[in-house]
Amino acid sequence: MSSAWSQLEDVGITVVTKSDAEYGKARRNYNTRFSRYPAAIAFCENAEQVSAALMFTRKNQMPFRVRSGRHSYEELSLMDDGLIIDVSKLKQFKVNQTEQGNYAVVGAGMRQDEVYQHVSAEGFVFPAGTAPSVGVSGVAQGGGIGMLSRAFGLTLDNIVSIQLVKPSGAIAVLTADSPVPDKELFWALRGGGGGNFGIVTAYTFKLHQVPELTVYEMRWKYDQFIDVMRYWQQWAPDTDRNLTCQLTFEPRDTLDENGKPREVHSEGLFIGSPEALANLLEPWVETVPPLDGYPLMERKSFHETTEFFAAFDSAPHPFKTTGAFVYDNLPEESLKTIVDRLDNAPSKQCALWMQSFGGAFADPAPEDTAFFHRKARFIQEYVGAWTPDTLLGMKCARWAEGFRSALAEYTRGTYVNFIDLSLSTPGKEKAQQPYLELYYGGNVQRLREIKTQVDPDNVFDFPQSIPPLPREPDGSR
Ligand SMILES: Cc1cc2nc3c(=O)[nH]c(=O)nc-3n(C[C@H](O)[C@H](O)[C@H](O)COP(=O)(O)OP(=O)(O)OC[C@H]3O[C@@H](n4cnc5c(N)ncnc54)[C@H](O)[C@@H]3O)c2cc1C
Repeated sequence: MSSAWSQLEDVGITVVTKSDAEYGKARRNYNTRFSRYPAAIAFCENAEQVSAALMFTRKNQMPFRVRSGRHSYEELSLMDDGLIIDVSKLKQFKVNQTEQGNYAVVGAGMRQDEVYQHVSAEGFVFPAGTAPSVGVSGVAQGGGIGMLSRAFGLTLDNIVSIQLVKPSGAIAVLTADSPVPDKELFWALRGGGGGNFGIVTAYTFKLHQVPELTVYEMRWKYDQFIDVMRYWQQWAPDTDRNLTCQLTFEPRDTLDENGKPREVHSEGLFIGSPEALANLLEPWVETVPPLDGYPLMERKSFHETTEFFAAFDSAPHPFKTTGAFVYDNLPEESLKTIVDRLDNAPSKQCALWMQSFGGAFADPAPEDTAFFHRKARFIQEYVGAWTPDTLLGMKCARWAEGFRSALAEYTRGTYVNFIDLSLSTPGKEKAQQPYLELYYGGNVQRLREIKTQVDPDNVFDFPQSIPPLPREPDGSR
């Protein structure tokens, strides 16, 4: 096989195989629950190399996966034995300021913190997620939920064009004005989830400017959760769209690194002054007074805000996380279920995390992009995390999945970027799988039609991928 790899090396691709010293580092992803051993990892540096790597797998009928930031919850960007087409070296970044608006061309290998650094150095803000090391590629194809979602929408709402290596190996730039099928492909890539329709090599994003930014943080005691939640869920998705809030519920007696309680806490990002933010928070603070009596509030630069929210991120560790969208405020009995679940959390690293929607998140209709769940009021994430210990790990994983099931009657669908293999029914063919409806709601059929058109041979196939439509008995579609 080594001579076969040389076909990739001949076009400048760095190939790391099991016999290379750097293989261990090169293969590792963020979720250390998994340990997969690909035959090789092909580190590509431009779109042409990505296309060559894809064509190589097709010619050799070799299974492959695409990888960028390595943060797939179920490690779907890795596999045993196949080839990993890694785009993390595609790091170009350029701002274009035009009369029509300001744009950034971003290589598909950029991590969120790298984009944040560049963007803020140029005086702009960029709506994406909070964890610094997550790849923009995976985030943007599935959605991109973050602390500017209510002001500027999802990351994918800010995509102006996408450079894509198609399943055929052709390199194309897609926009909303491209002819069909590229126009449809552009629609599908904004919400369809990574790895279904080709390999993204670059994005152009719309950038924004803001006058000033303020962050807040509040903490409450464990037993105040229901009161906090009651207020938050009827307020946060409807308040001023310049404010996006997250709310986290952690097991009893959880302390921060300074030994202070952090069981129920909320943070948020506001486009505006501390005084204006204080006015928005006042009724909440009066209804359920936080631990220190008043929120911590601080005016920050955009880059500082990304560091503030990055503080809630951590180093690679094992976890099983799943999620759900909440369309209607949760009734009292479900809040008691939540407390019961946290009372029985098997590890201190387990948590319930939520983020408010509405505002710009809800402006597009569910069918405007492939991201369907626009009318959800907020999202929930059931985080099962642990220090390395297999038995505890199994308990935490079951806890997270059980949490989701316990609230299933009050929630609807889930976020494809919180990909969860337990949402597949063993033995069922893909077309009948419940995950399709959960991730894509009413957009499933259109996604499958586009898949059929652009990837009829189902080259981009992985657990929970979007299946093409079935063939007729004569093989046609
Ligand atoms: C710690 C942590 C924090 C997170 N925080 C947020 C958050 O704040 N907001 C949010 O919205 N999400 C968040 N997520 C979820 C995140 O959006 C997804 O895990 C996302 O898929 C990660 O993308 P990646 O490029 O880092 O991962 P990868 O594992 O590299 O890829 C993820 C998927 O996309 C595919 N893919 C990657 N690159 C490409 C490409 N160039 N072309 C085609 N397909 C590709 C892969 O094959 C895989 O299926 C978080 C995840 C983690 C682990």
